[in-house]
Amino acid sequence: TLILGIESSCDETAASVIKNGRYIMSNVISSQIDLHKKYGGVVPEIASRKHVELIMPVVHQALEEAGVSLKEIDAIGVTYGPGLVGALLVGLTAAKAIAFAANKPLVGVHHIEGHIAANYLQEPELEPPFICLVASGGHSHIVHVKGYGEFEILGQTRDDAAGEAFDKISRAIGLGYPGGPLIDKNALIGNSKAIQFPRVTFEDGSLDFSFSGLKTAVLNYLNRMEQTGEQISIPDVAASFQQAVVDVLVRNTITAAKMKNIDKIAIAGGVAANTQLRKDMKEKAEKQGIKVMYPGLILCTDNAAMIGCAAYYEFINGKRAGMDLNAVPGLKLSTSISKNNNGPL
Ligand code: ATP
Ligand code: MG
Ligand code: FE
Repeated sequence: TLILGIESSCDETAASVIKNGRYIMSNVISSQIDLHKKYGGVVPEIASRKHVELIMPVVHQALEEAGVSLKEIDAIGVTYGPGLVGALLVGLTAAKAIAFAANKPLVGVHHIEGHIAANYLQEPELEPPFICLVASGGHSHIVHVKGYGEFEILGQTRDDAAGEAFDKISRAIGLGYPGGPLIDKNALIGNSKAIQFPRVTFEDGSLDFSFSGLKTAVLNYLNRMEQTGEQISIPDVAASFQQAVVDVLVRNTITAAKMKNIDKIAIAGGVAANTQLRKDMKEKAEKQGIKVMYPGLILCTDNAAMIGCAAYYEFINGKRAGMDLNAVPGLKLSTSISKNNNGPL
């Protein structure tokens, strides 16, 4: 079974061909990072326009690199939410046009389901159930993956997403955009114990996250240092901030695994590329007999291989979308299968 996956929810235009849900035949990603850098973040209107330019060349390249023709494709899988509406519409419209013209089934994919599925591409033996920490630009969720396309949300952020916190702090300390990789790199030469930043716990035992207090604490620290004229060490701030984020992500995810009595943890989303998160999650979970998995760096941030993989499982489960499939910027993870849903994913 061959799936053509298409992704355009934010600032990556991507297409991929996936064989039998697990094997990557091609994975083409055109990132617009350099384009948005000078604005310090993604500019939605620019992103949409760039997607329009790139979508068909990227799709053609994905087919060409895979060495397959459109005729051989069994279904088209496309992200239809959540994300920037104008950006989503480009990939979705292209997918619909291709599906219509080539008379192929269309499968709509939830972007976060895609991020989780990246782990299936990395670990061919991985099967549900497992606990997945999804930490990205817009999400910080602890998900109990009960089956393919079957999720229960165990915890989520009450304010900023983890990736969003990285991006905001990066801007505040003058490192720029995108914040995650730059903080990661600076933290390598910094002291994570230099400054004590808060780690939020909720009294009710909730596995939720909150990063806005941490953000304020870092900003207050920077102001204080500036006022007293003391030297600020960027690597130390980066390392101490990063450690505060990583500590709570790791702590809550391991608690979730123990709560559900599951001995497999996967991480997903852009923040899953973080060096300290990968290291700490592995070390701390393995001490408790829990196996930890994470996708290769290119599969952590936005790509279409993960969308093709998620689409494969939806496809073999009989899911099909009509030509009326619309982009849903605030799409929730399917509540019909997600029992005990604590809120939008
Ligand atoms: P979402 O998936 O929630 O819709 P998104 O698609 O914009 O959001 P991703 O592409 O999954 O997000 O991830 C991008 C985020 O990951 C950014 O916030 C970026 O700073 C962060 N990120 C990328 N690499 C790293 C890293 N090495 N360390 C920490 N954060 C990182
Ligand atoms: Mg991106
Ligand atoms: Fe993403």
